[in-house]
Amino acid sequence: MTRPDTHPLLSALLTEVEQRNPAQPEFHQAVHEVLESLAPVLVERPHYAEPGLVERLLEPERQIIFRVPWQDDQGRVQVNRGFRIEFNSALGPYKGGLRFHPSVNLGIVKFLGFEQIFKNALTGLGIGGGKGGSDFDPHGRSDAEVMRFCQSFMTELQRHIGEHTDVPAGDIGVGGREIGYLFGQYRRITNRWEAGVLTGKGTTWGGSAIRPEATGYGNVLFAAAMLRERGEDLEGQTAVVSGSGNVALYTIEKLIALGANPLTCSDSGGYVIDEKGIDVALLQQIKEVERGRVSDYAERRGSSARYVPGGRVWDVPADVALPSATQNELDADAAATLIQNGVKVVSEGANMPTTPDALHLIQQAGVAFGPGKAANAGGVAVSALEMSQNHARTAWTRERVEDELTQIMNDIHRTCHDTADRYGAPGDYVTGANIAGFERVADAMLEQGVI
Ligand code: GLU
Repeated sequence: MTRPDTHPLLSALLTEVEQRNPAQPEFHQAVHEVLESLAPVLVERPHYAEPGLVERLLEPERQIIFRVPWQDDQGRVQVNRGFRIEFNSALGPYKGGLRFHPSVNLGIVKFLGFEQIFKNALTGLGIGGGKGGSDFDPHGRSDAEVMRFCQSFMTELQRHIGEHTDVPAGDIGVGGREIGYLFGQYRRITNRWEAGVLTGKGTTWGGSAIRPEATGYGNVLFAAAMLRERGEDLEGQTAVVSGSGNVALYTIEKLIALGANPLTCSDSGGYVIDEKGIDVALLQQIKEVERGRVSDYAERRGSSARYVPGGRVWDVPADVALPSATQNELDADAAATLIQNGVKVVSEGANMPTTPDALHLIQQAGVAFGPGKAANAGGVAVSALEMSQNHARTAWTRERVEDELTQIMNDIHRTCHDTADRYGAPGDYVTGANIAGFERVADAMLEQGVI
């Protein structure tokens, strides 16, 4: 990786982060990307270079690691590891999802928590940054096993969270089912109906309309805003979408609603290309009801769809690319293919799906690029709206939440766009997002003193 050595403080800090946090490559990558953007702001506004400010931002306020023992259906004891990184609470209670996936480790949770600080700041709402999860793999587990795992996880986590302290939600492997089991156990242990302690709840018991849809919808709205800036819209554009979880599903739904044609979806086994465009109802049935694979989709869809085992969606020519699966899924080779095929917009539905080398290629080619901390902020934004509704003991209509989401995404787009302009990097949404997010958090930290 190239170092952010345009500013001596930043390159020294990156070296320190790498030394103090060994074997956490994703965390280093996320820090590097942010620090790389900050040089112009430290030069122009030197009070941000005040000793200790950026250092404090790079060190989580609290890191919690705990044992999660549970019994599987055969009565065997299983032991997983649980994490919650309470990264920064200058703007509000720690806020961020829980990820249940075998790849979860401290470095992954720290990169996600670090990204979350800036993402949450960009929403303009009062939420700090945090993230958590476990190396538990829900795939192939029965409902009863998932429930017992969630209950054990919450038995420890409950002592650290609260509606004014830390508010988890979902991420990969944590959806409505898991949030339900987690909330039930929290309520039982604490004997409190504290709706605002978790977001992504069922809509009959405190969940917000549009929360499951919000990340995917928001990313499509962000991509549409970037296209508008270039005098185009989504109507008639082809799109490649990776993933087939919550984010991918509602990305595809919104693309169709705005007249675009989503051609692909994928999972860890391979991808589907559907010449007629993905049938979102069928994909939803297979993924959310049957908890099946995208290969099942291709089998049931008929002749328009083909399953490519082991392949990658980036080989399919399209106008718009929306990586919506996981970190580092779009590498330099994939970026080169997308560029060769004439892609106009890449917008990140997942967290840090684009490798640094891929990102540089995409930017050099003049392709509009929406970084996840801006483009996928719709999910956490609607989580914050869920907290507001819980606080007021009310539930807003779908229309109201969708209007708010649209407004928030357009505002984030404008903020990133104008900030990039202000710092001499027109069209560079990465610089715009990192600087705008940083300024909001840094101002709050400076005003609140050294804590
Ligand atoms: N996990 C989501 C994200 O990456 C949502 C977090 C939340 O709603 O708190 O932003």
